[in-house]
Amino acid sequence: MKNAAPVNRIIPFSTVDGPGSRTSIFVQGCNIACAYCHNPETQRMCVHCGDCVPGCPAGALSMVDGRVVWDEALCAWCDSCIRTCSHHASPRVLWMTPEDAMERVSRNIPFIRGVTVSGGECSLYPGFLTGLFTLAKERGLTCLMDSNGTADLARHPALMEVCDGVMLDVKSWDPAVHRALTGADNAAVKKNLAFLSETGKLEELRLVVVDGLVDAEAVIAGAAETLGPRAAETRLKLITFRCQGVRGRLENHPSPSRETIERLGELARRAGFREIRLI
Ligand code: SF4
Ligand code: SF4
Repeated sequence: MKNAAPVNRIIPFSTVDGPGSRTSIFVQGCNIACAYCHNPETQRMCVHCGDCVPGCPAGALSMVDGRVVWDEALCAWCDSCIRTCSHHASPRVLWMTPEDAMERVSRNIPFIRGVTVSGGECSLYPGFLTGLFTLAKERGLTCLMDSNGTADLARHPALMEVCDGVMLDVKSWDPAVHRALTGADNAAVKKNLAFLSETGKLEELRLVVVDGLVDAEAVIAGAAETLGPRAAETRLKLITFRCQGVRGRLENHPSPSRETIERLGELARRAGFREIRLI
């Protein structure tokens, strides 16, 4: 299927994935592995091991020719399969073309302002995004990406033409810290930060604050220096780490205190940010 992407789920009406009510599409698959990922079941593709099939209480999963098949109509959405899977995958994935996805989005018009694609990592599927956003804009919808910024977005001019903005995660500033947190380098993230800001496509900058693991002060200082005067008009979200849904070494890690978040907010204000959200 041309430009198809694996879709983990679609939330018809979301108010937390950009301005206004939006349809949010979560794709499957990510190119990094954040220790604090809240959607770990979206990180990898199913390897069809079959481990989750016997535990499905609704008979929605079966093995056919060595592959797991999911019957959406039978699914009780109990998440038993997600809890069983040790591969950070899900059997509940549908490959969709831009037209398929737009058909789902269209059901929610006129109650939405736009569509947001998240993940997983949506920039792994530029053809899907370009096709979907082209169709969505024809219907008057705004189109946002939620991205970890590790793919060089300047290499996708057709996508950036139809994308209204990117909600960019800047997870750390020091490459060694980023690597320890995600397994990947962050040179592309910094390049994207500058590129998106310069081209007016930086919808917001997001930083998840984790005590002892994230160099939040360095992110604020580095981002402020990169953005220069544009920092004042850039929305910065300082997000309190919470361990709910997290698997692995951070699944019992404490959240930073409110005082820590407020101190970082004040630091950001002094660095030049004006639109600061503490979450
Ligand atoms: S969520 Fe998974 S285990 Fe539960 S009914 Fe659906 S397919 Fe079966
Ligand atoms: S979703 Fe996970 S447990 Fe189920 S078949 Fe795929 S890899 Fe195996």
